[in-house]
Amino acid sequence: MNATDFVTEYEYAASVLLLVLMILYAIRDKFRTSANFVFVAMLFATFASSVLHIFTTSMLRDAADYPLWLNYTLNIAYLFAYENLAPLSLCYASKITRHDRTGSPDKFIVLGTVALNSLLLFTTPFTKLVIYFDENMTYRHGPLFLLLAGAALLILAYEFALVVRFRKKLKPVQIVSVAVFITLTIIASLVQLLFPEQIIGNYMIALSLLTFYISLENPAEYVDRSTGCFNAEAFYITAESYMERNKSFAAAAFCPQGLSYFAEILGLRESGAICAIVAEDLKKRLKKSELFYLGNWEFVIISETASASELTAVLRDFFKKPVSMNGIEAPVTPYICTLTYPGFVSTVKDIRDAIDYTLNSMKGGKETVVEMTAGSLEAKQRELKVLAAIKQAIKDDSFQMYYQPLFDIKTGSFSSAEALIRMIDKELGFVSPEEFIPLAEANGLIPEIGELSFRSVCRFLKSGKAQAYGIKYIEVNLSVLQCAQEKLSSQLMGIMEEFGISPEQINFEITETAGLANYDALLGNMNRLISRGVTFSMDDYGTGFSTANYLITLPTDIVKIDKSILWPAMENEEAFIVLRHTVEMLRSLKKKIVAEGVETIEMVKLLSEIGCDYLQGYYYSKPVPPDTFITFLADNVRSAQAQTV
Ligand code: C2E
Ligand code: CA
Ligand code: CA
Repeated sequence: MNATDFVTEYEYAASVLLLVLMILYAIRDKFRTSANFVFVAMLFATFASSVLHIFTTSMLRDAADYPLWLNYTLNIAYLFAYENLAPLSLCYASKITRHDRTGSPDKFIVLGTVALNSLLLFTTPFTKLVIYFDENMTYRHGPLFLLLAGAALLILAYEFALVVRFRKKLKPVQIVSVAVFITLTIIASLVQLLFPEQIIGNYMIALSLLTFYISLENPAEYVDRSTGCFNAEAFYITAESYMERNKSFAAAAFCPQGLSYFAEILGLRESGAICAIVAEDLKKRLKKSELFYLGNWEFVIISETASASELTAVLRDFFKKPVSMNGIEAPVTPYICTLTYPGFVSTVKDIRDAIDYTLNSMKGGKETVVEMTAGSLEAKQRELKVLAAIKQAIKDDSFQMYYQPLFDIKTGSFSSAEALIRMIDKELGFVSPEEFIPLAEANGLIPEIGELSFRSVCRFLKSGKAQAYGIKYIEVNLSVLQCAQEKLSSQLMGIMEEFGISPEQINFEITETAGLANYDALLGNMNRLISRGVTFSMDDYGTGFSTANYLITLPTDIVKIDKSILWPAMENEEAFIVLRHTVEMLRSLKKKIVAEGVETIEMVKLLSEIGCDYLQGYYYSKPVPPDTFITFLADNVRSAQAQTV
């Protein structure tokens, strides 16, 4: 073959393309992940290979015009860059499939091939095994030239197998990118074999690196668009790369309480704009630490150099001055939780779980800094187990409704009952509704639970047993999320009709949080249901904000005074005054009053004296299964009759 035949245009194109990629890569924010390093190495190697190839091909036209050492140096350098691309790409595949950890042969294959390439190439001026220049200074391939290409092909085959084997660990785009790389490289080799003057190898590789760049290595993939911070995915990759390399680091996750104020005042639909302002300023304070936005007003910082307490100090100091936007200023308190690695976490998911759980449990509490421990993780794992149990119970329709009677002071009998849900899981045993209802709410499972439990109540009422002993209606708890759904009223009416239950037999308990969440939807639902004959109770009065507003505007007949108002009233005078005046006020508002948590005869006496209408509590009965409840009612009616005889 005549050296003058080489078509070098492809190499020029490849060089330019790679140069652009390298510049794009350099000017954009990027991560310190090991896969990124390898990608950059591939960019450099391919660039070096194409530039060197331009020189070597042009020199080969008149090799004799240049010193032998220069011919050798450039050709060896070119081949070194080119032939080591395959092991580099294996290294990359090994990283993204996470197959590079201890025990995998990948490292040896990569290092072995690089060593073999080096040995053969660096000695070829003496051994003439790979390339050499004959007596006419003509460039020639040595007997082992094809060995290098063969080794590269074997490596690509191995890499292909690796990606196929670990395809589940990869995103589709990763599989496609690696497949494109391997296919293009093999095509290039075949073309090279058939048409040696068409030197398209580097160009093909550059093209596939472009695929990588667009799909995987594009830093924009890891940036949260609205805040300009690295996103949760980036956090994942960064933390994982630290953990893989056994590097110790500190992390501080925080949720700036008060930022949502801006969203409300300025009518922002998303947290983006204000979070972006905070992030921008905060980044300037963070030296050698990375800031990520996890979404939902939550950030996390990772630092290799600063300790958890140093990160906390930086954050506290930063939020000392109010945040301002569009001329509005507001104080912001960060809720911070920290952890140190190595410690109780072993995966990035553990970190996320611990952060999720801790920040969530801090909301509304007094503590603003919490050091996460194994306990945070256990609590999260318990949550996940409970969540799984809820889903199973929904599937099996295995929730049970228990009933707790309400004593009517005026008639001296039990005229209604509250239905309370129970979940008994095979593995976890009894799980309190105080634990699982909030979890079900947070995970969107409440509508299904609400429907199942309401059906159960209607089924119970349909039997007519309770009514036979004087029960006039059943109180059913509605969660905040149910009330926010426009279709709630029609859904509940539908179920009542299905079971032939008249609406007068149902009283729904709502809390004022339901008013806070979606007032219009709540009111709409209430009005539609009331027009059919259903009544409503305001539950847990005295625990929340107890805004007079909801008491006046929401059409409730009954108010249930929480035990947290009753119990202290038994102990101290001031609390008693509060209870007495609460009852007085509610009476003036023409509300029927239920006192909850009635446990002793003293409470019964006191509550009757100050004017409550109904009493509910362990003094009469705990919530019990339907059969026990009916037996309880029957016994009561019998003993009442016995007394009158
Ligand atoms: P809640 O609506 O305030 O229900 C009253 C809670 O007080 C019940 O707890 C009941 O067992 C308990 N209780 C009643 N009398 C006494 C007493 O004399 N002393 C003491 N210490 N406690 C008493 P439970 O059944 O564990 O329910 C807890 C909460 O879970 C309920 O508070 C309610 O918010 C929610 N919940 C229960 N069932 C349902 C349901 O079917 N749907 C919805 N959305 N929430 C429910
Ligand atoms: Ca209730
Ligand atoms: Ca209550």
